Amino acid sequence: MTSNSDVLILGGGPAGLSCARALRGLGIHNIVLLERESALGGIPRHCGHLGFGLREFGKVYSGPDYAKRLADKASGADLKLRMSALKLEPGGLVRATGPNGAEDFQAKAIVLAFGARETPRSARLISGSRPFGVMNTGALQQFVYLHGKCPFERPVVIGSELVAFSTLLTLRHAGLKPLAIIEENARITARAPGKWIARLGFGVPVLTNTRLLSIIGRDRVTGIEIDRGFGPELMECDGVILTGRFRPETALIAPSHIEIDPGTSGPVIDDYFRCSDHHYFAAGNVLRGIETAGQCWREGKAVAEMVIARLENRLPARQPDARVTLQGPLAYVYPQRIYRDALTDHPLLFKARVTHEVRGRLSVVVDGSVVWSSRISALPERRIAWKLPARDLRTCRQVSVELDAA
Ligand SMILES: Cc1cc2nc3c(=O)[nH]c(=O)nc-3n(C[C@H](O)[C@H](O)[C@H](O)COP(=O)(O)OP(=O)(O)OC[C@H]3O[C@@H](n4cnc5c(N)ncnc54)[C@H](O)[C@@H]3O)c2cc1C
Repeated sequence: MTSNSDVLILGGGPAGLSCARALRGLGIHNIVLLERESALGGIPRHCGHLGFGLREFGKVYSGPDYAKRLADKASGADLKLRMSALKLEPGGLVRATGPNGAEDFQAKAIVLAFGARETPRSARLISGSRPFGVMNTGALQQFVYLHGKCPFERPVVIGSELVAFSTLLTLRHAGLKPLAIIEENARITARAPGKWIARLGFGVPVLTNTRLLSIIGRDRVTGIEIDRGFGPELMECDGVILTGRFRPETALIAPSHIEIDPGTSGPVIDDYFRCSDHHYFAAGNVLRGIETAGQCWREGKAVAEMVIARLENRLPARQPDARVTLQGPLAYVYPQRIYRDALTDHPLLFKARVTHEVRGRLSVVVDGSVVWSSRISALPERRIAWKLPARDLRTCRQVSVELDAA
């Protein structure tokens, strides 16, 4: 059986839900949204702490309240829960499976809003045994906030991105304090006050320059082996929480015909948020790994406007005029493809991240001429964003983003 709609949204997190809501506000009613979980809301659904919604709703919500608010606002779309997309086919056909078995969905425009996930143990190449008690933040949050349980009493937290500090809140909610946060680099990945907040606000030491060597334990975790620069040491603990290193959820995109950017690890997009198959758009963390929910929400809205333009045949059908190339210590820049006849005169928004801590001059070079440049001081976890007036791209054949480290 094939269901037909104007728009099919894959993923019911902040990006997918804000897209559904905005499309309805713009007069599109034939929208189907597939969500593989039994409830809408994405990651915030199991982030019990405050910190969501200020920009979107002018008020700070806990994750579950924010998720509920987003879901309420998307009502009116055909919301299909426990329905997992399985395969993305050319031309706007998606194969899925749900409570009633296999189903196909055909749409004029499809929005990929699958989100991102933390790198699991297997991909981190951590040696040692495979006992129970090793998990990512997402799994811990589900235990604590959705099921009211905590699988350990004295865990350690590996990694120091912002999400590691969210783990402290989750553990506090369960009445626990981890033994330490362990970071292999010389400084924490989140902004510097995080270290003091962990130490003074939570009483948790942050061990920088410390490497996790292996996990020990037969049935359950009994300890870890670490190296602080003096050789292997044993640290007794009963759980290991592997935080961060988010990657776009590309389980379906990577084996499909849609082009992936090795920098973002997400789909390549043009300045209309369109993928290499023009039936597909992308919004939220699937574009490049973790950002705030508010930013994903804004991207969902922006994509809704582009989807309308597609439905009204206002987007160029040809391939993009230029691909954006990178020079210097840049991890990625998006959009990765550019059209010279921008849809509107709105400035084009670029976003980028660096590979390591760097100061220098960031420039955009269009057909050999520098059209924009700025001095920056950046860290890998901090987003760099800038806008270019559409007129600067009117003749573009080659666009290069260049970072000269000082
Ligand atoms: C621990 C933690 C704490 C955070 N705290 C904050 C905070 O305080 N404030 C803040 O602004 N942001 C916070 N964030 C970030 C925020 O949660 C994310 O940026 C936001 O949820 C991303 O939205 P998204 O829609 O792109 O993806 P997600 O929220 O990940 O939603 C993606 C959805 O797609 C569904 N899906 C995936 N694959 C399929 C498939 N094949 N078929 C159907 N459905 C599928 C998933 O089930 C999920 O519901 C936090 C993130 C984490 C991990």
